[in-house]
Amino acid sequence: MANIVLFNDGTHRNILLEDMDGGGFAVQSNQHVIVHGDSGMILDPGGHKIYGKVLAETFAVLGRAKLRHIFLSHQDPDIVAAINGWLMTTDADAHVSSLWVRFVPHFGLDRLVADRLKAIPDEGTIFDLGGAKLYALPAHFLHSEGNFQLYDPTSKILYSGDLGASLGQDYREVTDFDAHLRYMEGFHRRYMCSRVVMRAWANMVRGLDIEIIAPQHGALFRGKEMVKKFIDWCADLECGVDLITPTFRVPSA
Ligand code: FE
Repeated sequence: MANIVLFNDGTHRNILLEDMDGGGFAVQSNQHVIVHGDSGMILDPGGHKIYGKVLAETFAVLGRAKLRHIFLSHQDPDIVAAINGWLMTTDADAHVSSLWVRFVPHFGLDRLVADRLKAIPDEGTIFDLGGAKLYALPAHFLHSEGNFQLYDPTSKILYSGDLGASLGQDYREVTDFDAHLRYMEGFHRRYMCSRVVMRAWANMVRGLDIEIIAPQHGALFRGKEMVKKFIDWCADLECGVDLITPTFRVPSA
């Protein structure tokens, strides 16, 4: 597992824990840790196959800081499957959409830690990480019905969860946007729900100062120009229900 510094000003650090193999058959995933002073947050820590590695790396990155928050962008297994272990081994609170707080416990949540799974309201919220603000931005239906992204104004990183995910490329940062499309187009056309929500999202994030868009799978987008290209692409993408013509058929043998 590689450990990549995306931002560090001495007080505030943003570290990418990159898992290139995803544990065999499982999809490749990126885990992100944010440390501000003596407080830390992990984003989308993942499932059981990578749990031990991610936990050890996270403690190494934290140093003397304590893990205070676990941010869960949505309810998928590659995000939350190992949540019980995270809550049992740390004192952190976990945060997930209010739509999912009654479903996530089915991954096996001990009674002891169940009250540390907190609901993020539909309109989003602002976390305090040792004095630094982090914004949980509503990004519902991209792809989950209860879905949040995390914006960090200190590092100017937008953690976009499944939005911007790419599969199969062998680089960590996008340098040629058009050549990169082949690794993310199919995923977005099926997993993202509609252009209406893509546009709503684009209109929201265009108002933010963003240097990096970091998805949970695949390569990240760095620099204002690349960030703008990605947002513009999203705003115009037909996807999800836009592409489902009303012609479901019963399969024939
Ligand atoms: Fe997902």
